[in-house]
Amino acid sequence: MGYYHTVALMLFLHFTTRRLVSQVYCGLKTASAKKQRTCYEMARPSSNMAEFREIFAKAKHITIITGAGVSAESGVPTFRGAGGYWRKWQAQDLATPGAFAKNPSRVWEFYHYRRELMMTKHPNPAHIAMAECEARLNRQGRSVVVITQNIDELHRKAGTKHLLEIHGSLFKTRCTSCGNVTANYKSPICPALAGKGAPDPDAEDTRIPVEDLPRCDDCNGLLRPHVVWFGETLDSDVFTEVEKELEICDLCLVVGTSSLVNPAAMFAPHVSARGVPVAEFNMQSTPATDKFRFHFQGPCGTTLPPALARHETELIS
Ligand SMILES: [Zn+2]
Repeated sequence: MGYYHTVALMLFLHFTTRRLVSQVYCGLKTASAKKQRTCYEMARPSSNMAEFREIFAKAKHITIITGAGVSAESGVPTFRGAGGYWRKWQAQDLATPGAFAKNPSRVWEFYHYRRELMMTKHPNPAHIAMAECEARLNRQGRSVVVITQNIDELHRKAGTKHLLEIHGSLFKTRCTSCGNVTANYKSPICPALAGKGAPDPDAEDTRIPVEDLPRCDDCNGLLRPHVVWFGETLDSDVFTEVEKELEICDLCLVVGTSSLVNPAAMFAPHVSARGVPVAEFNMQSTPATDKFRFHFQGPCGTTLPPALARHETELIS
């Protein structure tokens, strides 16, 4: 840990902070999602699992970046894209500060619906493989961190301990007056929302009085979901932790998201530029895939468990 190391770290943080903040500012917006298309012609990254496993066996700090694809395999809707509607709206119509200011009752109905829906969803084999890998590698003095944009807490449910939820959580609230952030698993979250939030296109707004919406225990201020909405920036403390993990990792996995789409679009190229192997696990390759060492195509619930299973060289299981 000499002077050079410290300077290099500072330069990295300085550089990435400046570079990333501009990209992060778009919040949930997917970078050039429209341009995304399957690419057949270009030189392909390796899909050699044995080769990946050799690198995996030696890695000390593994960073796993996960996106919507991991949740989709558990049947979690994103309310984006074709068919992704709640009533007549999509997430980008309701997950905004403006929508909440204009109609907090409607936005709370939407989030209440999503919270209740999550009570019926379960981690899939990809979530479980990540959590089991973390527990096992921790016993060997190695680390695994999951950086996710998913707000459904399925990683937590699966047992992941070192988790950075960069877009927050459906099961946390933040007070719009005092800023207090609290874990909240109440069902319903408040009496007035009981039985509300029906997703059907013809369901009507309940127009719950604002004083009956979820309120802060400390100051009685109006609570909002502790999630990053469109047009909002990431929490700077979480972001600082993400940077630290990206700096120390010696293997990076991108799971259930394309590297053209956030969060992987923000983070994976920086890791790759340091010469650290990046492995994508998702349904399709994209032009960004070509920058990475490995690509494993298919449902991550199928491809990930064998990738993260105990390697023969692991002495402690
Ligand atoms: Zn408060």
